[in-house]
Amino acid sequence: MADAAEVTHATDAEVFAALPAVLIDRDNVEHYRGLLARRLLINRCAACGYWVYPHRPLCPKCWSWDVVPTQVSGDGFVFLCTLVHQERDPDAAPGEPVSTAAVELVEQPGLRYLAPVVNCPPDRVRLDMPVRLTWVDRDGVAWPAFQPSGPIEGGR
Ligand SMILES: [Zn+2]
Repeated sequence: MADAAEVTHATDAEVFAALPAVLIDRDNVEHYRGLLARRLLINRCAACGYWVYPHRPLCPKCWSWDVVPTQVSGDGFVFLCTLVHQERDPDAAPGEPVSTAAVELVEQPGLRYLAPVVNCPPDRVRLDMPVRLTWVDRDGVAWPAFQPSGPIEGGR
């Protein structure tokens, strides 16, 4: 796995400038630096291999401080999904809800990442549906999203 230094040359100042609405700190800055390079990085314990998310500097399993931003495969399944009704999403049809899911990543049971589900009608999102990472642009920044990685059940 690549370490974060190889991901992008964005400086901390560039990360802050690109994401002014995000609360960025020393524990998550590499995650957001990765997003700028369209790479989903999650801290992983170098001592025991446990994925540490939400971002923390300490492994909750073995208490090691040696956690390293590491790229995940982007494969997972829908663990939980909700429909968000709002009018700000440029990809959503007027009045249509946006699916937002907690996606359990294949790297580790319980490792869940919250992101929208795209390229799938909201009423077709199912629990345990296999999904794959993709990216959506918002105000010039790429954000993680997930899309079905197989046939959509009950698809049109
Ligand atoms: Zn550990």
